[in-house]
Amino acid sequence: MASSTAAKSQITIRLCGPRGFCAGVDRAIQIVVLALKEFGAPVYVRHEIVHNRYVVEGLEAKGAIFVEELGEIPPEHRKQPVVFSAHGVPKSVPADADQRNLFYLDATCPLVSKVHKQAMRHHRLGRHVVLIGHAGHPEVIGTMGQLPEGSVSLIETVEDADLYVPPDPDNLGYVTQTTLSVDDTAGVIKRLHERFPNLTAPAADSICYATTNRQEAVKQAAPGCDLFLIVGAPNSSNSKRLVEVALRAGAKKSVLVQRASEIDWEAIGDISTVGLSAGASAPEVIVNEIIEAFRERYDATVELADTVEENENFLVNRELRHVELTAADMAFVNGE
Ligand code: SF4
Repeated sequence: MASSTAAKSQITIRLCGPRGFCAGVDRAIQIVVLALKEFGAPVYVRHEIVHNRYVVEGLEAKGAIFVEELGEIPPEHRKQPVVFSAHGVPKSVPADADQRNLFYLDATCPLVSKVHKQAMRHHRLGRHVVLIGHAGHPEVIGTMGQLPEGSVSLIETVEDADLYVPPDPDNLGYVTQTTLSVDDTAGVIKRLHERFPNLTAPAADSICYATTNRQEAVKQAAPGCDLFLIVGAPNSSNSKRLVEVALRAGAKKSVLVQRASEIDWEAIGDISTVGLSAGASAPEVIVNEIIEAFRERYDATVELADTVEENENFLVNRELRHVELTAADMAFVNGE
């Protein structure tokens, strides 16, 4: 009788690097874990700290409570900290926290805060702000909420750019969401520049290094892939963009999955090369789970498809810097 290994067909998994957690996600998770150690449970978190169920459930198990609005925090817990998510919040949120006498820790990614500053700078210099991003995403709500109502216009697509009627076409400045498609955004900016030649760019690109690097790695690995799996949540903007990038760069099929259990093995069909990457909020432990799931069904060889090395690291809030993490905490924070 042939062994089950002999019966397995051979596939290559092209594992993209960089993939998974970025420095902003790592910092945000660290802030919740450190706050739990320093102040004890419960620690409240406004909105999913990062868009990943595995991370959220892991933090809930440690004593974090997720709320959508500050009013959900019961009066008897007002001395416990509340953490604002990595996506950033409108200015009204810390103001509301102050009014309610809440102690808050802001886990907004420093690169999102940088976009807030650039939007504020345009506004200070008298420019109407054009924000390129996706309506309803918490980062977009946070960025728009840095400025008075009516100071920011949201543009999502080239079609929006075509139809846009600004208050003063010669006095416009733009910023973008940090997790957009690099190529699509370049198209929107090009169209805006064609229509409004005096449009002012931000001092530095708003799309962050992690988004850019993950898209570039997927772009390079995609040609020749029969299937490209992206580990990420359906509400994770940067993960969804990776699926689009894989398809455009030549993968025959690309699917977003949160866990190995979501993979539809029946639908996969005949494959020889699978691309694999993970959005900036997806932990490495799930990437490994997926590789294992392939190894159970195929004779899989993992081929590293690395592009650049990332060394970014963002400091946590001052009040938490003295708190130490155990090796197990560090593994959780790193998504391992
Ligand atoms: S994806 Fe970029 S902007 Fe968002 S948390 Fe990560 S580093 Fe920060």
